[in-house]
Amino acid sequence: MTFNVSDVKPLINDEFTGEPTKRALQYISNQRASGMPVVGLYCGYAPLEVIRAVGAVPAILCAFADKPIPAAEEVLPANLCPLIKSSYGYIITDTCPFFGLSDAVVAETTCDGKKKMFELISSHRPMFVMDLPQLPDEAEARSNWATMISKLKGFLENTFGTSGTSEGIEAEIQATNIKNRLIRRVYEYAEKKPPLLSWQELYELSYLAQVATTEHLLPIFKEIFETIEEREDKGIYYGSPSSPRVLVTGCPVGGDSTKVYRIIEEAGGIVVAMDACSGMKPFLSDIEEKTGDPIGAVAQHYLEIPCSCMTPNTRRLTELDKVIDRFQPDAIVEVVLHACHSYNIEAYKIMTHVKEKHNLPYLKIVTDYSEGDVEQIRTRVEALLESI
Ligand code: SF4
Ligand code: SF4
Repeated sequence: MTFNVSDVKPLINDEFTGEPTKRALQYISNQRASGMPVVGLYCGYAPLEVIRAVGAVPAILCAFADKPIPAAEEVLPANLCPLIKSSYGYIITDTCPFFGLSDAVVAETTCDGKKKMFELISSHRPMFVMDLPQLPDEAEARSNWATMISKLKGFLENTFGTSGTSEGIEAEIQATNIKNRLIRRVYEYAEKKPPLLSWQELYELSYLAQVATTEHLLPIFKEIFETIEEREDKGIYYGSPSSPRVLVTGCPVGGDSTKVYRIIEEAGGIVVAMDACSGMKPFLSDIEEKTGDPIGAVAQHYLEIPCSCMTPNTRRLTELDKVIDRFQPDAIVEVVLHACHSYNIEAYKIMTHVKEKHNLPYLKIVTDYSEGDVEQIRTRVEALLESI
């Protein structure tokens, strides 16, 4: 029996079900009210374990809505990635509640647009820009990134008047690994044919897990597993056994760009894997424990994130192979945000790889946060799913 998301007991069953942003806001507000400083961030390279080890709370800043983009375009070029325009628009219109709660911001040198946008917002909050090595396989990349992480730690300690220890970072590493293993256990139910959870549920869980501590999440995980197992016992699953399974890869997808997930679903497909920073990427591997050099271990882990800002980004193909093997998709959809040159160019490699190695149909969707291209995307997704 298939289910509608609205008809079954939600995976995360609280007053914020279906509203992950409000849940995260409540969580962060509570932490801040207890005296903890808040660190705003935009990117998967921000080392959460170090932020937590200095006693701060990470907050993902708003970047996924179309609404603030017209205000941003008064300053930024229109032909810029919507994620960057949205981030900036939220700040200059003072409408990102997470930024409102943030005492400092962590930035990274990933793509040019983001780097320059950070300069424009640097006067709004204390900001630390991390110089990200972009040739991850070079011998000095790890030590350079570890130096940057140490400098970030010093910046946070000075800004907040706190201090983080190596033992504290090691404890955070171990906590992250516990959480990541639990999330991967949840993913096992998305691997099933048909899956036992929806893309909305996967998305909500990823969002919460990036801000909440493992300690906070443990009782939530307990309930999640009970709910999924209950579904399994009752034979309730998502989609139908014949629904095409779709793996979505590429740029981060959230807020208004989740229109792509929605369209795939309306066209009869089911999104079984989200291969992006907004989805599964942060949780797919562990950080090495008990190395005696926890900052080095954190540096190694984050340097292995297969973002298109890295060159060569060969790890993206090997990681994608693993995700394909696990989730057994029938098609790959790549989401590229307008003017994101690195993901757009890398898309050629991804297309060639999935077609030649996995013999899977592939569709690249270049889009922004507006609703203007919904029907055009729908036509292309329908054609893709019909071709399976
Ligand atoms: S895709 Fe790259 S730049 Fe964007 S959030 Fe992920 S790691 Fe950061
Ligand atoms: S989607 Fe691309 S252009 Fe936009 S912020 Fe991320 S890496 Fe930069």
